[in-house]
Amino acid sequence: MKKIWLSPPHMSGKELKYIQEAFDSNWIAPLGPNVDAFEQELANYVGLNNAVALSSGTSALHLALIMAGVGPGDIVICPTFTFAASANPIVYLKATPVFIDSENLTWNLCPDILEKTIKHYIKKGKKPKAIIGVHIYGMPMQLNETLLLCEKYEIPFIEDAAEALGSSYNGKKLGSFGKISIISFNGNKIITTSGGGALLSNDPIIIKKAKFLASQAKDDAPYYQHSEIGYNYRLSNICAGIGKAQLEVIDNRVKSRRANFDFYRKELGSLSGISFQNEPPDFFSNRWLTCILIDPKLSEGVNPDKIRLHLEAKNIESRHLWKPLHLQPVFKDVPYFGGNVAEGLFERGLCLPSGSSLSEEDLLFICENIKSLFHKS
Ligand SMILES: *Cc1c(COP(=O)(O)O)cnc(C)c1O
Repeated sequence: MKKIWLSPPHMSGKELKYIQEAFDSNWIAPLGPNVDAFEQELANYVGLNNAVALSSGTSALHLALIMAGVGPGDIVICPTFTFAASANPIVYLKATPVFIDSENLTWNLCPDILEKTIKHYIKKGKKPKAIIGVHIYGMPMQLNETLLLCEKYEIPFIEDAAEALGSSYNGKKLGSFGKISIISFNGNKIITTSGGGALLSNDPIIIKKAKFLASQAKDDAPYYQHSEIGYNYRLSNICAGIGKAQLEVIDNRVKSRRANFDFYRKELGSLSGISFQNEPPDFFSNRWLTCILIDPKLSEGVNPDKIRLHLEAKNIESRHLWKPLHLQPVFKDVPYFGGNVAEGLFERGLCLPSGSSLSEEDLLFICENIKSLFHKS
């Protein structure tokens, strides 16, 4: 029985051409023409002037926080409903993450709780040093409200668009809203460089500084001289070749992922107790992963784990929604503001296979298996 993965890499066919070019010119390292082209094409795609290709989304976020001036003891606000990599770089810098609950509409950072939290810390004389926003599963967060708060309290907004390349908000591409924004090209994301990320900003000083920090912070001297601590965070010219070919097909990938979502909603939407992540007007999601919520009061005893195990027995991978960070053992001492919206999503939700290479036959097979659980009882 073949395996149906949650979100496997999907090559376009042109990746090897750009890798071959790198081999033919022996531009294996350092950096090189694929990196330059990939950065320029990515920046064009999101509507900015420049981008920096990096080894991962996590390293991009690490550099973003450094450039926002985050250091030991600082407060950095982060949604609780996200992947741990959104918060880990805060801890790398010995700053303190503060987690905030989701709002029901988009499942992302709740602006009301955000403002209460900012006020709380300002009153204590500890104004947050940065706010990280995340567009979970590709769904834009409430950007208008959040950006107004960032402006009002003069706190830099760092946009974690790791899952959201191809999404947009009021017609503007995600990845272009932060003072600094980041994207991930990890193997499970909508496009991949086999492993990589990018940092984006409209500020040329930030772009220049990111390139400097990401390549060992070498001073402008004829020998190795360093006035700052650097990192080895750049993307290789080989991986950038993969990224370049992937970026050429991003719009197709978004179409396929959105078609997966539509298929699932049509097939499963009438099952008792099942609902989907909303897409409000002017919000456009790349639908990176299709997620369902299951209301236990209406679902005839079916719950996310029951579906997950049933699919697993059929060699179909599905996964619980993100376990909120304030419930993670490693973050048990981190302050949390909010109620139980994110907890509810975690308890009731399941991510379904969402790869852009899924066939209609695969989708039908998955849906039939889910439906069979409902019809049995
Ligand atoms: C994947 C992801 C990251 C980290 O990206 P990597 O490239 O895997 O380091 C950060 N934030 C979110 C929300 C992610 O989904």
